[in-house]
Amino acid sequence: MAKMHPGEIAYFEGDFVPVGDARLSVMTHAFNYGTALFEGIRGYYNVEEDNVFIFRLQEHVDRLVRNFNILCMEIPEDAARIEEICLEVARRSALREDVYLRPICYKSELSLGPAVRGVSSALCCYLITLGDYVDTNDGLDVAVSSWRRLSDNAIPTRAKTTGSYINSSLAATEAKQSGFHEAIFLREDGTVAEGSAMNIFVIQEDKLITPPPNADILVGITRNTIMQLAQEQFGLQVVERPIARTELYISDEVFFCGTGAQVAPIRSVDRRLIGNGKPGGITRKLQKIYFDVVQGKVAEYRDWCTPVYS
Ligand code: PMP
Repeated sequence: MAKMHPGEIAYFEGDFVPVGDARLSVMTHAFNYGTALFEGIRGYYNVEEDNVFIFRLQEHVDRLVRNFNILCMEIPEDAARIEEICLEVARRSALREDVYLRPICYKSELSLGPAVRGVSSALCCYLITLGDYVDTNDGLDVAVSSWRRLSDNAIPTRAKTTGSYINSSLAATEAKQSGFHEAIFLREDGTVAEGSAMNIFVIQEDKLITPPPNADILVGITRNTIMQLAQEQFGLQVVERPIARTELYISDEVFFCGTGAQVAPIRSVDRRLIGNGKPGGITRKLQKIYFDVVQGKVAEYRDWCTPVYS
């Protein structure tokens, strides 16, 4: 489990309150049925500028708000207000370190029976401090999970729903209990989907390959960031196509990416070393630029970084 400390202030029931006062009833619909949508958004502390930059806030809020339609979420706050709330929670927590914001839109009604329409919704948002979620230095030892990735037609993987993290929890726990750092999900058709909470790329002959958006994945904002950086900064070709399990074993490099995972090299899959078992050169290059970009150090991508303090 990632170590964390909560920020002091949360947004809850239309107000900014001490995090300890942000409490829900056990009868809350979302608690009973997993009917909530959320985002995980990182803020990086930049020492030189003494500021925290929230990475791709607009894109995260946009994904959240677009997915409202899947769960018929209706709340008074619009996208602009949700962005402000995230920034305000960060500002009021007054931290000067790396943070992680969690806006959650949840079915707030105290009612019985699974449904998405006709059940009222509400927004809350809290913050924690967060360092590495998985190791990003040495390379991860991962295993293909015996749990299949859930299908977008069962519980929409495209949306970051709380309920879908049962699937992730089962795979992550199985992997850790078996002595691995992380899991890779296959889809019901046997092709590769993603990690328990991160997208996956394989590299073959200097080409980045990742499963397409309709492959039962969460279409990650980090995934999109990496695709753009690979093309624009290094002129690398990026291909979205189904990946066979065995391609994991024969690729030159494999890595995970995600808001939590950042860019995390994979050094082995199912106890088979990838390349020479060391993080690969392209992964390292992408990782380096990613860490510079998220801290607001690359002028070209500075508009992806929203400062918390003025
Ligand atoms: N897939 C899953 C299942 C995830 O939970 C996450 C983390 N949000 C990702 C992929 C990566 O998405 P993002 O880059 O938007 O954080």
